[in-house]
Amino acid sequence: MVKKNKEINKERLCDVCNKEEIFGVASIPGIPMSVAYCKNCINADAHPIWAIRGNIVCCGGVEHINPNYLNTVVYSQDGDYITIEEDLKRRPFTEIELTQF
Ligand SMILES: [Zn+2]
Repeated sequence: MVKKNKEINKERLCDVCNKEEIFGVASIPGIPMSVAYCKNCINADAHPIWAIRGNIVCCGGVEHINPNYLNTVVYSQDGDYITIEEDLKRRPFTEIELTQF
């Protein structure tokens, strides 16, 4: 059975905040992956925290990325929109994260 867009949207939540109904799908800047975004996260220009943290680890750590990348907005575990720089202050990389990639 083919599902209408409205039915799909009700079943799937935003990949950034994991709370709101999706508005659309788009690629994550600098990462070859597309995810679902709600209107709030699109307006905040926020991206999935797991993807941004993983990308930094894949690049070899904070010291190997363009400093501007630290301004990337994510939806934090505390439920607010913050930069990845602020997220890393609140929750530094764990040893497991650093060795996963
Ligand atoms: Zn969202």
